[in-house]
Amino acid sequence: VTETIDTHAHVDTRPYEDFELMAIGGITDVLTLAHDPMKMSSSIVFRDHFERLFAERSRVEKTGPRLHVCLGLHPRARPDDLPACIALLESYLKDASHPVTAIGEAGLESRDPFETEMLQRQIELAITYDLPLILHTPRADKAPMTRELVNVLSTFTLDRDRVVIDHADVSTAKLIVDRGYNAGLTVQPGKLSPQQAVEIVKTLDPARLVLNTDMSSAPTDVLSIPRTVQALKHAGVHGVVIEAVSNKNAWRIFRLKL
Ligand SMILES: [Zn+2]
Repeated sequence: VTETIDTHAHVDTRPYEDFELMAIGGITDVLTLAHDPMKMSSSIVFRDHFERLFAERSRVEKTGPRLHVCLGLHPRARPDDLPACIALLESYLKDASHPVTAIGEAGLESRDPFETEMLQRQIELAITYDLPLILHTPRADKAPMTRELVNVLSTFTLDRDRVVIDHADVSTAKLIVDRGYNAGLTVQPGKLSPQQAVEIVKTLDPARLVLNTDMSSAPTDVLSIPRTVQALKHAGVHGVVIEAVSNKNAWRIFRLKL
């Protein structure tokens, strides 16, 4: 079994049994990201959500992989007190008793001014606290929205190797990698198939690619990463490349600690 990392998951939506299955499948580490499991209407809701993500560590690690918590404001969230939400997020980044692995997921969904401001404030926090940034791209208008995301990022001075532009597809992965960012390949029913991920890995710089499930309450293949590793092996992709995209790149980008 090849050891792998899931770089984008929402374990708070998954049953206990999934975590043991992931460990059996060779997944050693999982990044769980803040998202929008309910109407994210205020900083009070965000505080409860963030606390839940830290509480997930004991649930997941009992039988499953190590869990790394990432906190952020999802672009679909519309809190009525954005400054308080940003201050809340920053309070967690300052608190060493709650280690935060990355800011995420942030990003763009529909590109209205509120979303752009929420994204900009989170990019500033990533720079100030020297943290990686995991950015969502939407299903609709993926290529233009990805270009817009890159435009917003390019107005900041940041280390592009610490940014993952996620849910990349065949139309956006090259654009992301060519600009020096990392592309997240979400292998999931309705997103990329293992075979599409193989095609992207074969054509782009493998040092700039990471795999994830984005497991959530939507249709999910908990074992999509081991399945993609198997498809890569079957396609004759070199073991060094497989190890990079399924494991090593994540250690570099997120500076994970054992
Ligand atoms: Zn997600």
